[in-house]
Amino acid sequence: MIKFSDLNLDPKVLKAIIDTGYEIPTPIQAGAIPPALEGRDVLGIAQTGTGKTASFTLPMITLLGRGRARARMPRSLVLAPTRELAAQVAENFNAYAKYTKLTKALLIGGTSFKEQDQLIDKGVDVLIATPGRLIDHFERGKLILSDVKIMVVDEADRMLDMGFIPDIERIFQMTPFTRQTLFFSATMAPEIERITNTFLSNPAKIEVARAATTGENIKQGVVMFQGTHKTKADAEKRELLRRLIAAEGDACSNAIIFCNRKSDVDVVAKSLKKHGMNAEPIHGDLDQSHRTRTLDGFRDGSIRFLVASDVAARGLDIPAVTHVFNFDVPSHAEDYVHRIGRTGRAGRTGTAIMICAPRDEKNLADVERLVQNAIPRLDNPMGAATPPTTTAPIDDVDAPREVKPRRQRTRGPRNAAPTPVVEATVAEVPAEVAEEAEAAPVAETASPEPVAQPQREDRPARSDRRPRGGERTGGDRERPAPDRNERPSPDRASNDRGGRDQEPRDRADGDRGGRGRGNDRSGGRQDNVVGMGDDTPEFIAKSFAERSGA
Ligand code: AMP
Repeated sequence: MIKFSDLNLDPKVLKAIIDTGYEIPTPIQAGAIPPALEGRDVLGIAQTGTGKTASFTLPMITLLGRGRARARMPRSLVLAPTRELAAQVAENFNAYAKYTKLTKALLIGGTSFKEQDQLIDKGVDVLIATPGRLIDHFERGKLILSDVKIMVVDEADRMLDMGFIPDIERIFQMTPFTRQTLFFSATMAPEIERITNTFLSNPAKIEVARAATTGENIKQGVVMFQGTHKTKADAEKRELLRRLIAAEGDACSNAIIFCNRKSDVDVVAKSLKKHGMNAEPIHGDLDQSHRTRTLDGFRDGSIRFLVASDVAARGLDIPAVTHVFNFDVPSHAEDYVHRIGRTGRAGRTGTAIMICAPRDEKNLADVERLVQNAIPRLDNPMGAATPPTTTAPIDDVDAPREVKPRRQRTRGPRNAAPTPVVEATVAEVPAEVAEEAEAAPVAETASPEPVAQPQREDRPARSDRRPRGGERTGGDRERPAPDRNERPSPDRASNDRGGRDQEPRDRADGDRGGRGRGNDRSGGRQDNVVGMGDDTPEFIAKSFAERSGA
């Protein structure tokens, strides 16, 4: 068995590892650290929860041990798609580099340029940034990237989702050709493969088997929901959510509730609070300190329900989440996998329950096709007039059935539901729900038309760029690039499309012969798997903060 001491890491790094309590390297660490220390490019196909952050931070700290940073010329660069992920990487650096003199700066939106400039001016060894903020600093002439020796791209598939690929290409071009590149992505979409073929040189490829997409340790279910009337549907859906939560009883210690739209995140959180539940919202419109506070509260247990958008919660290392509730079926099937992956981490059990309204049925079919299984239908406690506590336990539902390809399908999932919601629900809507229904926004009119693509100042206008097929364009579905909003460039401001705050995704897919990622994200994957499969060791679930006592 490989030990950390076998990996040629700097003794100071080894000492820090001992402090964290890690005993053996995870497969991605054992696979990526040796080639990284040899100066080779690394292509790591792994997702959060596998220990991938340490697989690049540990060799970086070792390699940067020699030499000193010069003013405004960082020696290494880590790019992460969201502020939270960048902050998580920075925390990792703090822990692993604590016995070294290496300096770092975190360039993310929501914090002042001035303080960040001051740090960069002094000279930093490690710069951790979101792509938008990094380019802003560069364009303001505050940053020189010609001394970057190591560049890390973390969560590249997420970058693709968020439309950051042009920024990443640009940043690659701003750094020296001779740099070492460590590149991580959970999946190898064709566009990601193109980038790696272009910018990585003979990389060592390490693939950690994807945590079971819908692992056996995660009990799943979907409740088919149909409102009694469109003016009441929103409130009834929230009532259904509360009943589903109540039905889980004490087994639900905490939960992340995902909504597709930011406005729903706020409304659902408010509604849960109104009904005496300890819930807080998190999405890209909230300022950074608020988001950090909320996440800390959820981590330390002082907040029980985190109502979240995909962008705000994806990829975060939040251990021990017992439940995930999908208030909506995600419009991108792969988000389902990421959402439910917030629970049942590292061999723990978890429960994922989803609500599916009639208009979400196409999305549900996409999800089922992606996970190659039917998601068991649960009784609708409202439709069946069942008191919350007697809602069918999730174990009791039908076993997963095989999903046929759509063309062969003759009946939609709604027809397949054993207990479709019945009109009788009207009589059972309690008074306060009806009240809520009146107050509820009527903004549930998702248009099936794709949103027009915004053009960016750093790339030519292309008429053939298009959002991913099947994109729903609910008026306020979260724009998955919070940092961009804060970029001072006037051109950026034009990305704000008059209250329509969704940023189309996969902008880089459209014209490259790709079909968008769709459900096929396996392109370019290597056969050679260094993996944990479904048997992820328990320690992986432990949060960094827990271990370091930070
Ligand atoms: P990551 O995939 O980088 O988000 O890491 C997932 C979790 O695993 C984090 O909480 C890390 O602190 C933890 N971790 C990383 N490497 C190890 C290791 N070798 N042994 C135990 N825990 C680890």
